Amino acid sequence: ALAPEIEARHAGRHAPLRKRHHQIVIVGGGAGGIAAAASLLRRRPSLDIAIIEPRDEHFYQPGWTLVGGGVFDKSQTRRPMRDVIPTGANWIQQGVAGFLPEENEVVLDNGEHVSYDVLVAAPGLKLDWAAVKGLPETLGRNGVTSNYGYGLAPYTFELVQELRGGKALFTQPPMPIKCAGAPQKAMYLSCDYWMRHGRLGDIDVEFCNAGGVLFGVAAYVPALMEYVQKYGIDLSFNHNLVAIDGDAKVATFKVVDGDETREVQKPFDMIHVVPPQTAPDFIKASPLAGEGGWIDVDQGTLRHKKYANVWGLGDGTSTPNAKTAAAVRKQAPVVAENVIAHLDGREPGVCYDGYGSCPLTVERGKIVLAEFAYGGKLVPSFPKWFIDGTRPSRLAWLLKERTLPWMYWRLMFRGHEPLARPQPCAKVAAE
Ligand code: FAD
Repeated sequence: ALAPEIEARHAGRHAPLRKRHHQIVIVGGGAGGIAAAASLLRRRPSLDIAIIEPRDEHFYQPGWTLVGGGVFDKSQTRRPMRDVIPTGANWIQQGVAGFLPEENEVVLDNGEHVSYDVLVAAPGLKLDWAAVKGLPETLGRNGVTSNYGYGLAPYTFELVQELRGGKALFTQPPMPIKCAGAPQKAMYLSCDYWMRHGRLGDIDVEFCNAGGVLFGVAAYVPALMEYVQKYGIDLSFNHNLVAIDGDAKVATFKVVDGDETREVQKPFDMIHVVPPQTAPDFIKASPLAGEGGWIDVDQGTLRHKKYANVWGLGDGTSTPNAKTAAAVRKQAPVVAENVIAHLDGREPGVCYDGYGSCPLTVERGKIVLAEFAYGGKLVPSFPKWFIDGTRPSRLAWLLKERTLPWMYWRLMFRGHEPLARPQPCAKVAAE
């Protein structure tokens, strides 16, 4: 809707409605935007920062797996946005409609322009529910659920409790997605419940994955396969969900078999869907976008490849790491350090190594803690005797249930950076 306004502005035909300026403008008040603001202010409290975020609530999305598993109540994963905006940062409650990086401005949904010295883009990604035909109409009923929605995750646990027999499908769309392990986590926790309640023998569980492997980093696959076998799960690779008929309870998959592609229909009693995921539309359509529509940043410094005063972090960027809040925890200090260097007239000197983490909830009380950097290199945070990430671990479950939420709200969102001190680029390159 704002295209004419933006075009007119480019053509110099009319002046902006109103304009304000902030030294640093952050787009998005999700994990990335809040953590970056906190890390910046911790380093330099005098910075003038504005966070542009339309929602009045912030969600701790890593908790949704535990909501779907009946461990957390959904309210534990939500906080008022005003409570997470760091002290000292301004909040502009608007959506960003477009970017004018040549003019150091963003355009808001209301047509207002905000100019900046430095832009930090952390808009997350788009959950494209509508890309699966029939899905939006049936989500949250007819046995169709997803832990990828705040309001939907409790329905997953409702369905799991209700199901006594029949067919349960769990789907995974093409990569990249946020928290690539989450489709499986939902499945294992459901199977664990059915096993504990003596029902698993009557439930036929199938994992329909658009990809060709169970998990992208091979070191974790043996432990996961033990659970696949224990729960009697059928693995169907190269199965991409394309349509759902909720009333008839039938899911349609595009199946790639060598050179051949065919459509396969599967009836279900319950289906856990993970939606296809893309860069947000307003990013895709912007000059910040590179290949695939993602924000085109250097994978080490996180600085935009074309615009030297623009940085990006979180799920919306082009960096080939696991899109997780754990990645954000390491990225935010890198962005903060490099932005301050830039403001001081220095070159960015610290780099992100691609760290991401995926705590795979293989049963209630045990987790396979996948931690890896660029190229699938294993980068465990703990010694093997404490937590061996390639094996199911009770301590890792405690970490996920108790410590990680606390770290998110109390450390990451206040600019404390344990185990996340930014490293010089030369050191990161040498490792
Ligand atoms: P988000 O946190 O999604 O925030 C993006 C923000 O941008 C939002 O607040 C949004 O409102 C805002 N925004 C959007 N459009 C605009 C606009 N036009 N203008 C201004 N603002 C805008 N991570 C882990 O580390 N461990 C896990 O176990 C884990 N499990 C997960 C399980 C599930 C089911 C899900 C859904 C996610 C999980 N994640 C996990 C991933 C993690 O939540 C994300 O990687 C993280 O939230 C990314 O942060 P972000 O800031 O990039 O995006």
